[in-house]
Amino acid sequence: MVNTTPRRRALLLNEYPELADYARTALRLHPRRGMPTAHHSSVGGPLLWPLDEPWPLCHEKHYGDGPTGPAEGVVLASVFQLFRHDLPDGLLSAPEWMFPDDSDVLQVLWCPNPHVDTDDPKATLRWRQQSQLTEVRSSNPALNVFTPDDADNLVPRTCVVHPELVQEYPPISIEEPQESGFAETMLGILPPHLELACALWTATGRPRENFDQHDYLDHCRVPGWKLGGWEPKVGFWPTPAKHCECGAPTFLLLGATSEDLFGPWQPVDPPGFRWGDPDDWDDNRPTDIWPGRNGLLWLLGCEADPTHPVLVYAE
Ligand SMILES: [Zn+2]
Ligand SMILES: [Zn+2]
Repeated sequence: MVNTTPRRRALLLNEYPELADYARTALRLHPRRGMPTAHHSSVGGPLLWPLDEPWPLCHEKHYGDGPTGPAEGVVLASVFQLFRHDLPDGLLSAPEWMFPDDSDVLQVLWCPNPHVDTDDPKATLRWRQQSQLTEVRSSNPALNVFTPDDADNLVPRTCVVHPELVQEYPPISIEEPQESGFAETMLGILPPHLELACALWTATGRPRENFDQHDYLDHCRVPGWKLGGWEPKVGFWPTPAKHCECGAPTFLLLGATSEDLFGPWQPVDPPGFRWGDPDDWDDNRPTDIWPGRNGLLWLLGCEADPTHPVLVYAE
């Protein structure tokens, strides 16, 4: 089983054991290009979809589709499928919101066309029971995408996944901790003394060398595609909503960004799949999803009701 938790993070936790109270479990997906079937967990792969359930279509206004859009609607793209049996066993248990009501399959889809009112893809999710999926589609429907050349690609390249449960710790301010105004920029998830200590922490134990050295942030959260865990608190405008429109809290369903193959999150042992070339742009983005300016994408779900709208933020 792949294990990429940075070894030096144990030093941080030894030094500041109170961080343990803020741990959240995430599922790192490690997508890699492959040929999954509908019976595999995947990114952008075929979904195990009931034959009698219509495939979702988007009827919102898109760039390039004229005032009304295609009469039949835009076919949603398969983004992600996860089978419960692919969750790794181990010391960590999966986030509590996963697989509600005895479900054992999660499916996420989104509209792959840019919308007139937002750059963020409109997403939808399904929690299913595999035992009820007897009559299923033989393949996903063909997409009718007509994305303009200059828009972000939102059709994921087909990947298999290699799930790994990891623990994450909260984000902190990215400002310079040695400057007097640092206190005003703190995010306040951690107590002030701890946030400052984490901002000053280095993996080597030597003083920080420059402005851009953020060892805590590099070690506190996993890069790449993941479910659950902590969401970053910087770079998004508007700020991601803490609550669904029904009032219930939101949770981080899916985060998607560069795999950062060069960072501290490296496999301890041979991972059992091709890790990729850390210097290769494509290997760092196996799904080819790179939305917004910085390639950050976050989907938030509703804790109370999985059928409520998924909130999507790209930056
Ligand atoms: Zn749409
Ligand atoms: Zn809700």
